[in-house]
Parts: sequence; structure tokens; C-alpha cells
Amino acid sequence: MAQAQLFIDLDALARNWTALDSFSAAGVETAATVKANGYGLGIAPVARTLAAAGARKFFTAIAEEGVMLRDILGPGPEIFVYSGHMPGDAGLIAGKDLVPMLNSVEQLTRHFEALPDHPFGIQLDSGMNRLGMEPAEWAAVAELALPRGPRLLQSHLACADEPDHPMNARQLAIFRDVTDGLGIPRSIAATGGVLLGPEYHFELTRPGIGLYGGAPFAQANPVTRLSIPVIQTRELEPEEAVGYGCTWTAEAPARIATLAAGYADGILRALSNRIALYSDDTPCPLRGRVSMDLLTVDVSHLDEVPETLDLLGPQQGVDVLADAAGTIGYEILTALGARYARQYMGGTQ
Ligand SMILES: *Cc1c(COP(=O)(O)O)cnc(C)c1O
Repeated sequence: MAQAQLFIDLDALARNWTALDSFSAAGVETAATVKANGYGLGIAPVARTLAAAGARKFFTAIAEEGVMLRDILGPGPEIFVYSGHMPGDAGLIAGKDLVPMLNSVEQLTRHFEALPDHPFGIQLDSGMNRLGMEPAEWAAVAELALPRGPRLLQSHLACADEPDHPMNARQLAIFRDVTDGLGIPRSIAATGGVLLGPEYHFELTRPGIGLYGGAPFAQANPVTRLSIPVIQTRELEPEEAVGYGCTWTAEAPARIATLAAGYADGILRALSNRIALYSDDTPCPLRGRVSMDLLTVDVSHLDEVPETLDLLGPQQGVDVLADAAGTIGYEILTALGARYARQYMGGTQ
């Protein structure tokens, strides 16, 4: 079998939720952000496991993800939609009991006209300039919205992964300014905000990446292990090259193993010649370019060629790959290919 195996430790996922929950006071609720197919790991086992761990509120990016999540979790848990109420969403929102986070006066009007009695939240822009109502917009519609009882007032931090960044305090001040005293539950903290401390917790936190083992949650339990089969091994003479573009040349005799995964599986081509795979604890350098379906790895120093090598695991997490590729762990996770066999361990599947 040449199919790479992506092992997903659902017990580690649950422990990460519990650990992030323990950063905030007992009265603060910890939700879970499960957009993008549970950050690439599989929405159904991820959401079921987090619900069993104690999460009662879930956040998705778009209504269609919320629909899928409702079918997975059944009635009960609250499902919020960050993109709010878009044209064509009313049936999904009503039919699957989703809570849109309304981002603009236009969305608010659309929601109140289509579903006047249906729950909603409000997303406020405190400086990121991505989603949400600006303070002036909110001031203009707050009187209209507040009597209808928004479930949640939320904002999002642009620089929460940099604790010393002045933007954090600036956004917090703006958020407080436009929401203090309203008596509505509030949320500004994703993973980074949870770690910034209690001022940022309000009534609800909504971490994503930390659940899945990524930075900035440094103490996260590793959730993923990616094990890739060796298809073939060959001996190289000095001066022989490997792969497209001949970007790596052997200086001494070398043994190169060819593995069955590539950039079509989300192993970014930018990683070419820049990382190692692991045989247990022994690093084996990636040689030459990542191709669509194949990797070439130096196993010269191993006594025996293993059947598989690990690209992700306890030895090397998503952030090591991210740093090597000039990106973030979020992109490594959400790029994890559809071609892998996802093997779930523990949790609630
Ligand atoms: C993705 C997202 C989150 C979760 O962020 P993490 O950094 O993954 O914890 C929270 N809130 C909003 C608005 C998001 O888009």
C-alpha cells in the first residue's frame, strides 16, 4: 500500500481543549473553532470529540459548514457562523438552527427581514479591518439590534500571537468601549487571546489552532502523525543528482528512499531540501524537490531502510514545517491532503 497514513490523536485534541479551557476562569465558557473541516483533520470526529470533552459552542466559517456540523452533532450545541448571514443563507440558518455573526448593517437588515425571530450575534471590527461592523456602524444600529437580544458580541485580534504587540491592548480598549455595560456575552479571544490573559476572556473564548496542536499554544499535545511509505530505494554515486531541476547532488555515496506523498498532498514545495523526515527519532533529510506525488529522502545513515518515514509527529510538529516553508501551522494543517488515510485514535468518532 502506497497510501500515506495520517494518524489523528483525538485524545490529544480533547486534552488541548481542556488545557485551553483551564487558562480561563471557571465562569468563562470555552467554545471550539472547527472551520475548514476541523483545520483539515476531519470535522466529524473532531467535533464529536470536542463535544464529549465539554464544548457546547462551535464556530464555523460559512453556513454550509454549520449545516454539516449540525448533522454531525445533532440538536443542542450552539453553532455560530463567522461569515454571518449571506444572500441565500436564510434556509440553512433556519433549517439547521445556526447563529450567524452579523458583520454589517446589510447583513443585519437581511437577517431581520428574512428571519426576524431567529438568533444572531454581532461581529465588531476593533481594528483588524477584515470582518465586522465598525464602531460608527454599530452605534447606528445598536438600538435596533440590542432589543432583539444578540447571543454574542465578538471581535477578533489581529496580533494575538505577539503578546507584546500594542495592537492587542488597542483592540481590547475599542471592543470594551463599544460593548461595556450592554449585558450581552462577549468574546475576543481565539487561541492567542486565551494566552494573553483574563482581560481578554470575557464570557467566551473560541480557540482553534491550539486545539489542533499549533502555535501559539506552545504546550499543546501533538495531534497529528503523518507516516509515508517508502516505495523504492536507490544507491547514488558521488556527483549524481536527485529530482526535478537536479537541486541536490550527492557528494559521497548516498542511499535515497522515494516516498509516496508530495505537494498534491499539501507537502509544500517550498519545503524542498529544507526539512527532514523521521525514522523513529533519527532525522533523514529531504533531498531535492518535492514532486506532486513523491519525496526523496536521504537514508544513507540508517542500518535498514524503514517501511515508512514520518513527516509529522512528536519529533516534528506542524510549526517546524511551517517555519521551513515560510508559513504558519494553520496552512500546513489545512493543506493536509485528501489522499491520506485518516486514522483516528481515541476520542469519540
Ligand atoms: C479562525 C478564527 C478563530 C480561531 O482562531 P485560532 O487562531 O485558530 O485560535 C477565532 N475567531 C475568528 C473570527 C476566526 O476567524
